[in-house]
Amino acid sequence: MGTMNDTPSTSIECGTCVAAGTTACTDCIVTHLLANDDGPVDFVPVALGSPSDTGAAPVDDAPVDIRGHPAAQGHRGGRADPGDRVIELFRRAGLVDEPVVRAMAGLDLKNVGMRIYVDGKRRASDFGEVGFTRFGIGGPVVLTHSRMVVDALRANRKVVVSLDLKPALDENKLDSRLQRDFHERREERIDSVLRGLVPREMVETCLHFCDIDAAKNARLIDGRERMRMRRWLKDFRLDISGHRPLAEAIVTAGGIPPAEITPHTMESTLVRGLYLCGELLDIDGDTGGYNLQAAFSTGWLAGRSAAAADAGTLSADKPLS
Ligand SMILES: Cc1cc2nc3c(=O)[nH]c(=O)nc-3n(C[C@H](O)[C@H](O)[C@H](O)COP(=O)(O)OP(=O)(O)OC[C@H]3O[C@@H](n4cnc5c(N)ncnc54)[C@H](O)[C@@H]3O)c2cc1C
Repeated sequence: MGTMNDTPSTSIECGTCVAAGTTACTDCIVTHLLANDDGPVDFVPVALGSPSDTGAAPVDDAPVDIRGHPAAQGHRGGRADPGDRVIELFRRAGLVDEPVVRAMAGLDLKNVGMRIYVDGKRRASDFGEVGFTRFGIGGPVVLTHSRMVVDALRANRKVVVSLDLKPALDENKLDSRLQRDFHERREERIDSVLRGLVPREMVETCLHFCDIDAAKNARLIDGRERMRMRRWLKDFRLDISGHRPLAEAIVTAGGIPPAEITPHTMESTLVRGLYLCGELLDIDGDTGGYNLQAAFSTGWLAGRSAAAADAGTLSADKPLS
């Protein structure tokens, strides 16, 4: 929430209201934060959120600077340079540009194993829900690791995601299952048999990557082809070619490092009287409520601290309650 101050020494300046000759407003876009002549601002909690377009934030039209105090230069009020501190956490990681992968758009897989390799080294292992979009892959498990992936992509590292579509079966058990299915349904086309093993939307992709003719009868699948299918089911590899833009980020780890904040009050260590919270801070958590909780908790603390400081009751020793 952008916070306006209606005292004569207005600390936050709203361009629209200044132009209109007013000082108090609650529903405008904050454009600048101004320090008072003597340095500190007037106990202002600031909660402008992230530069992502997916929220309500109208920030593209309203870059917020924190000005007027030499020490304020270190803060960039929620508009950290994307090339600098902002880390994007994307709804969807980019993927190989294979039309056949895009054909799976809309498919959500539950109970999938996922490993992430960066320059050939395993950097993460997880299990859960992965979805395909027209851009690539997404879903909770992808989101959890996307900060690491985005960092790696920015450092020009090669990122590969490997999906284990049959995590409950080891290679031997999976091979037995394939042999049994192919035998029991030996007169059927392999694309039809595969529908019993993977979602319908994945059949074409599987056959493409395993280089098997969809019209081939199951009884004609040889040992090498079965091995390719087994390996693909356990280790479906996708080169990550990029990530979605900042505008689509769900969480952005917004830019002001926690080291520049006094943790028991949320006051800036660079601008006295300025209290920062939520996604203005360079923090992030897994999806599922952790980011909202961080925003609620830091927002509560920033607001209470600012009010207590304004009332002269803020104590360095006594925690707020
Ligand atoms: C699509 C989506 C899904 C999400 N899902 C989850 C989830 O499941 N779990 C989870 O934990 N987190 C989730 N998040 C993240 C979570 O919503 C944010 O971390 C949290 O809302 C941040 O709170 P905030 O108060 O810091 O910022 P925001 O909630 O973004 O609030 C900032 C407010 O400030 C206003 N504002 C911005 N700039 C200005 C300006 N210059 N002047 C005036 N007002 C301004 C904005 O309009 C906005 O109302 C999701 C985010 C998105 C976008």
